Amino acid sequence: MKEDILYLDHAATTKPADEVIAAVNEVMAQVWGNPSSVHALGYEASRLLETARARVLSALGVRFPKPGQLVFTASGTEADNLALLGIAKAKNHPDGAQIIITDSEHPAIASTASYLEQCGFDVVRLSTKNGVLDMDALARTLSPRTILVSIMAANNETGAVYDLKSAFSLVHQRCPRALTHTDAVQAFGKIPLFPEKIGADMVSLSAHKIHGIKGAGALYLSQEVLKRRALAVQTHGGGQEGGLRSGTEAMPAIVGFGVAAEMAAKRIFNDTSASLRAHLLSVLDARVRVNQPAGNYLPSTVSITLPSVKSEVMLRFLSERGIYVSAGSACSSHKKTASPTLLAFGLTAREADCTIRVSFSEEQTMAELSRFASALREGLDSLAKIREMR
Ligand code: PLP
Repeated sequence: MKEDILYLDHAATTKPADEVIAAVNEVMAQVWGNPSSVHALGYEASRLLETARARVLSALGVRFPKPGQLVFTASGTEADNLALLGIAKAKNHPDGAQIIITDSEHPAIASTASYLEQCGFDVVRLSTKNGVLDMDALARTLSPRTILVSIMAANNETGAVYDLKSAFSLVHQRCPRALTHTDAVQAFGKIPLFPEKIGADMVSLSAHKIHGIKGAGALYLSQEVLKRRALAVQTHGGGQEGGLRSGTEAMPAIVGFGVAAEMAAKRIFNDTSASLRAHLLSVLDARVRVNQPAGNYLPSTVSITLPSVKSEVMLRFLSERGIYVSAGSACSSHKKTASPTLLAFGLTAREADCTIRVSFSEEQTMAELSRFASALREGLDSLAKIREMR
């Protein structure tokens, strides 16, 4: 990347760490065997695969992993699909089986749930207004028909962190047969996330959000899911990944994921993003509004609503100056409709249309955030002038 480029879109993807690139290169050049092969090169690949699995599980606080506890996939999206479809397509569900999600899930969950709704499942979407999960609505909705509750750990557009521990303990108390899932693609590696402590039966992860490379994701499975064989296979074939996800494992991306997860787990304890956020808020133009969640949030994700300037116009203005941010989320930025997540947060469609997302890494400096704030101010001034001239 050129020296003067300022990348502030880490919720979309991150630059692979040097250590990750080194590990990926080593696998591609030297340990390129198939981990299922029964010869020395295969054994060596298999050893690296299991080391990567243990590293990701260790970052989730699982010290003594049981076989099958982590299924590698190709992306966070695939992990989310496996969790929802895998549970829904398993047998013996009550009539009118119910799946509970929130109204601000990433499309990987939201679209999969809509598909299941078309298949006849009763899907309930809990409110997350102002970035806070409606716990009373969860309590009212849970019933003997509930088979799965999937609540994201941290929101990709607002950074809101939902109270999973309280939500999942309520689920387990009221509906002992229901399983819990969290899409932790944004939260993993940024805040402590220990599935056994928060009562999550399944957790979706993605490597490229934590300085790994694209092509690896994972789904954590609790003992309960394994014991009950609760997940129906979605990818049939050679039986890799405990039979739950056939297909030869993407070894370079997976080995890189293990390295990235280990590095991320260490970083959590000297996280500087709260002071970076405080600095950014102190230098932002008074004309903008920060959509700060009312509860907990990831300090490194900042949602900013501009006064009557469409996000796409500001994105172009900033991009021409080498500053890269996004509108809402990267995957929704090509869509013409307002972001459902921002609407769920409480923004109007017009406000959502004028909202940008800044997401920084642990290596960002205060000077860089000041540079962004000055360019934003300049953008607001010159775009206001253009409007006046019209
Ligand atoms: N879930 C959330 C919350 C995300 O932010 C993303 C990606 O932005 C995904 C799922 C999808 O992950 P992947 O890009 O690995 O498919």
